[in-house]
Amino acid sequence: MAKDETLECSFCGRKKGETDLLIAGLDAHICDKCIEQAHGIVVEEVAEGKTDELSADIEVKKPKEIKTFIDQYMIGQTQAKRVMAVAVYNHYKRLMQKDTTKEDDEVEIEKSNIVIVGETGTGKTLIAKTIARMLNVPFCIVDATVLTEAGYVGEDVETILTRLLQAADYNVEKAQRGIVFIDEVDKIARKGDNPSITRDVSGEGVQQALLKLLEGTVVNVPPKGGRKHPDQKFIEVDTKNILFIAGGAFSGIDRVISNRLNRQAVGYSASISDDKVDEENLLQYVLPTDLKSFGLIPEIIGRLPVLTHMNPLDAKTLRAILTEPKNSIIRQYTKLFEMDEIKLSIDEKALNFIVGKAVEYKLGARGLRSLCEAILTDAMFELPGSDVSEIHVTKDYAETKISKAKLKKLKAVS
Ligand code: ADP
Repeated sequence: MAKDETLECSFCGRKKGETDLLIAGLDAHICDKCIEQAHGIVVEEVAEGKTDELSADIEVKKPKEIKTFIDQYMIGQTQAKRVMAVAVYNHYKRLMQKDTTKEDDEVEIEKSNIVIVGETGTGKTLIAKTIARMLNVPFCIVDATVLTEAGYVGEDVETILTRLLQAADYNVEKAQRGIVFIDEVDKIARKGDNPSITRDVSGEGVQQALLKLLEGTVVNVPPKGGRKHPDQKFIEVDTKNILFIAGGAFSGIDRVISNRLNRQAVGYSASISDDKVDEENLLQYVLPTDLKSFGLIPEIIGRLPVLTHMNPLDAKTLRAILTEPKNSIIRQYTKLFEMDEIKLSIDEKALNFIVGKAVEYKLGARGLRSLCEAILTDAMFELPGSDVSEIHVTKDYAETKISKAKLKKLKAVS
């Protein structure tokens, strides 16, 4: 018998004649079928390893740790921080559960998408961004006002996921665990509390389209955004593990809340009169029913089960925002000057003056930045390259620069 005929696959035992190919190793042989099978195992293992890696990438901190992290970047808003910390913690616990639970486990934790009600500039975007930074997951901000129902001028709702994919460098697995911040969600409210008879292009249709994403569905996403067209290749993205945070000013909702509270006060006068209503900050009493009165459809409200609010920023908070956060505005300017080896210092009175102007002209936290910019622009232009190594900003200096910059203009940009 020829030597070749005695050769066999060391894995499955097939004789050489029964295989298409038998490859020799040092002390063993492997056939084409076993190679294929082994290759399948390798691919599967690598894919599983990747998912594990992704899970390990996400740092799940306890709610208290989450709040402590946000505290470094954000002043006040304790209630919102606590509510968000719990929601995010539960969301990621839900993700972990998915990885480990057996099929027959009956308790399925539902998604905890969030809606934040708060005036513009009170930190809605900041809190969402800070959480994404902590979790090390892709994050994107989309403006609800550009979204339209499919077939109308504007962007299809799916393009939200295009942004998330871009933020995840087109890593679908990563994107599927990301966070999407939908800004100005109040602008897609239907006008008035009654379903409109005519077609409501910007409102209810978009809410309906959004609903599917919030619920969790597999979406064909145009990788480059824009309109869907037949020859474009789509990327499939499953939204079931994406955390959606919607934010809006819901301007006028305070009246809705106030009316409701008054009605309640009439109905249950005894219980309500004990708790004095804080008229200055009615948003703290916001309930899902107020969002419905405002024009969000009940299904959307149901898919945004965590509702929280941002308090208006008072002078004390604005003052703290100027200097306290880890990357506060003043720290940023100090760093900018430092890079030119110039030492920046600012008088306490000058800081209070800036806050005073922001309050007086209702510029909010965003205005603080434009005020600082107006005060420091001349110095940032003149000093680099000169022999000056220090700049001290007094209240007088700040006042002169601000009057030169014209506050009206500042208001326009903030
Ligand atoms: P919104 O999304 O509510 O309109 P942003 O989150 O964009 O507001 O906040 C506007 C600016 O104000 C940002 O630069 C943010 O850093 C700053 N800011 C707002 N609130 C706070 C806060 N509580 N602590 C620190 N910075 C804040």
